Amino acid sequence: MATDMRPTLPPLREVIATHGLQASKALGQNFLLDEQLLDRIAAIPGPLADAPAFEVGPGPGGLTRAILRAGARLVAVERDHRCLPALAQLSDAFPGQLRVISGDAMQVDARAEAGEGAHIIANLPYNVGTALLIGWLSTQWNPLPWWSSLTLMFQMEVAERIVAKAGGDHYGRLAVLAQWRGDARIAMKVHRSAFTPPPKVMSAVVHITPKPAPADVQLETLERLTAAAFGQRRKMLRQSLKGLPGALAALEMAEIDPQRRAETVSVDEFVEVARLMDRS
Ligand code: SAM
Repeated sequence: MATDMRPTLPPLREVIATHGLQASKALGQNFLLDEQLLDRIAAIPGPLADAPAFEVGPGPGGLTRAILRAGARLVAVERDHRCLPALAQLSDAFPGQLRVISGDAMQVDARAEAGEGAHIIANLPYNVGTALLIGWLSTQWNPLPWWSSLTLMFQMEVAERIVAKAGGDHYGRLAVLAQWRGDARIAMKVHRSAFTPPPKVMSAVVHITPKPAPADVQLETLERLTAAAFGQRRKMLRQSLKGLPGALAALEMAEIDPQRRAETVSVDEFVEVARLMDRS
């Protein structure tokens, strides 16, 4: 008969009570306490046994436990000192699997700490979530990024902006940045009532994996192009791109009608225009 090797841990509600972890709004704290839900989130990246992983904001450690149960070697960065004793207990329960860094994830070099190939998994604090995502997406791809996958909880509106397709209201620079060399999808919608305390809005877990053969384009060019195009998203491209050297010529070469507006231009079309700008 198989023996369950999972360590016995106190319920998360007890951890919160014992360590006085009342949620702080300033730190974007909305905790997940349903262990089945947490196991489902930790399963999204695929098998994690012995894989390096990186978590932002473990808090009382619900998602952290689930990632550890999946067998990952995890580095977790937490800004709230109150959580450290509870996380130290988790380190003891999963010997050699968890290293906690006390600090601000915006200041931590995740690549140096978690190592090449790490899966980044987090229920992100809403106030720094988008900035962290942009940092991970903007890292050097050579031809792939240092991380293997991103599994990140966002407010639904942000999740929709990440996975949006051309033509929709949510489509903009974030969608292009996430999708031009990554595959981005909403892996799970999470009701606000799953959190303690419940936030005002619904949430979703976004899963992003690097495309095996990413386009050969300079990130800087694509950024300048989408900044100009979406800076005036209601205007025709002919107008919004006229100040950007080479953009209108590239648009013509790509046979894209300059009367179109940015929100109708697909990710592939933006990439093609940027590629032609790079070559001009
Ligand atoms: N992972 C826990 C869960 O799912 O229940 C907590 C998630 S809660 C939405 C966000 C966590 O990020 C909190 O524990 C908060 O203290 C932490 N946090 C907020 N800002 C941070 C920052 N800049 N760097 C690291 N952690 C941060």
